[in-house]
Amino acid sequence: MSVVDIPGPCDVAIIGGGAAGVLTAIGVLRAAQQPLRVLILEPSLPLARGVAYATTYPEHLLNVPAGKMGGFPDKVEDFLDYLLDVQVFPGIGRDTLATMFVPRRLYAEYLRQRLQQAVEASRAQLEIRAERVQSLDRHDAGFQLTLTSGQRLTARRVALASGNALRPLPARGAGALPQDRRIEAWDFDAVRGVPGNADVAIVGSGLSMADTVVSLLAAGHRGQIHVLSRHALLPLPHAKGPAADYDPQPLLAMNLRQRVRALRQHAADAALREIPWQNVMERIRPLGQALWQTLSVDDQRRFLRHVVRYWDVHRHRIAASVHAQLQELQQQERLHVHRGRLETAFAEGACVQLTALDKRRLPVQLDVHCVINATGVEMRAQAMRNALLQQLLGSGLARPGPHGIGVDSADDGSLIDADGKAEPHVQVLGSLRIGNLWESLAIPELRGQAAQAAVALLG
Ligand SMILES: Cc1cc2nc3c(=O)[nH]c(=O)nc-3n(C[C@H](O)[C@H](O)[C@H](O)COP(=O)(O)OP(=O)(O)OC[C@H]3O[C@@H](n4cnc5c(N)ncnc54)[C@H](O)[C@@H]3O)c2cc1C
Repeated sequence: MSVVDIPGPCDVAIIGGGAAGVLTAIGVLRAAQQPLRVLILEPSLPLARGVAYATTYPEHLLNVPAGKMGGFPDKVEDFLDYLLDVQVFPGIGRDTLATMFVPRRLYAEYLRQRLQQAVEASRAQLEIRAERVQSLDRHDAGFQLTLTSGQRLTARRVALASGNALRPLPARGAGALPQDRRIEAWDFDAVRGVPGNADVAIVGSGLSMADTVVSLLAAGHRGQIHVLSRHALLPLPHAKGPAADYDPQPLLAMNLRQRVRALRQHAADAALREIPWQNVMERIRPLGQALWQTLSVDDQRRFLRHVVRYWDVHRHRIAASVHAQLQELQQQERLHVHRGRLETAFAEGACVQLTALDKRRLPVQLDVHCVINATGVEMRAQAMRNALLQQLLGSGLARPGPHGIGVDSADDGSLIDADGKAEPHVQVLGSLRIGNLWESLAIPELRGQAAQAAVALLG
């Protein structure tokens, strides 16, 4: 393929037009004091969908209440304002709407509307290209980006917001399964297309599993649903009730073991006062990054090895209505949860046969119509299925983050290269910062990062 140079450097190139990229663009457009050329590169248009908000199905709900999903640190109720303005829920008052878990697709519409408003009011020009970036290198003008179409362009500053990568199905033989028998949970249309009477196996028991089950139900699925995961822990529900009022600051000075013990004690104390344990977790939500950064490296490792599954189900909760659906299915003996480590996945006649080993290393076998990969977000930088990240790591412009997860970034969001040098003109956002920050996936963190990145990119 011949290489075509796109003329002129752009001032800011944003790689990835998911929520983080769009929020960064809004920040840059709003703050620009002079004409600038801002470019978003995103292969999957329209903007602002990414994985989370690409679903058009009403059963896929946000897992954060609407009142906390605003895209801007100085306006955390901005999403709520938008919902009220566009009147998607007529007759529902502000206070009730603030606590609701609304369909995720509304969030993409919200971000696009705010982007449009920022474009109209800005002195900067926004350009959007439906392109995937294949490589990013240093260049006289700043950086050179090569696109998969073969085109090349230069940019003075770059935001790296390439987002979430799906973990591949961890089973021998999975790659050889026919396409309609091996479905990715984030392929929402394919999940909806599973035949109504088919028995299915979902690998993974987290939020993507919950999404998958509600989709199957909404599509009229009547078959058996098997969930296979190493810990067999299902997401827990959000709860209403009085706020917990303990002081979380002392946790920061404790080691991991002490923190777990202290949190259990806070939950027990709260229960005596009829405060749900969920609100004990909410109290530490704003400290998520500080809690990670004040753990010793050894404790971070222990957390990743022994605690993370328990953390996930307590921290990443689902709407109570979704939780109730899962419970009902279990009671009806239509949803079966198996604990085991998946080993193989082979086509066997008309079936897909999965084999797993349980905790005692005894075999578990499932014969199903198809397997759905709901293993969730890939955190290990080297395993992420994204050619750009492989190139960045290979060229030394980036290095893996702490514990090999995400890519390394400084506190101000600068990318850190293989020599440990911070590159302030490449700002990293979102899940790529997980090794440094741990809490770096959800909107409450992304809005802060995007605001910080906008300042750095204009600086
Ligand atoms: C199923 C699911 C549900 C979620 N629900 C919630 C929720 O309710 N509330 C909440 O706060 N958070 C939620 N999250 C967390 C979610 O990750 C964030 O809210 C947010 O969507 C992340 O945005 P992002 O832009 O960082 O990444 P993504 O949404 O993954 O977007 C990254 C974008 O970058 C593009 N891209 C990747 N590589 C390249 C490249 N080389 N060149 C150009 N473009 C590229 C991709 O096409 C993609 O559009 C959810 C996550 C998932 C997976």
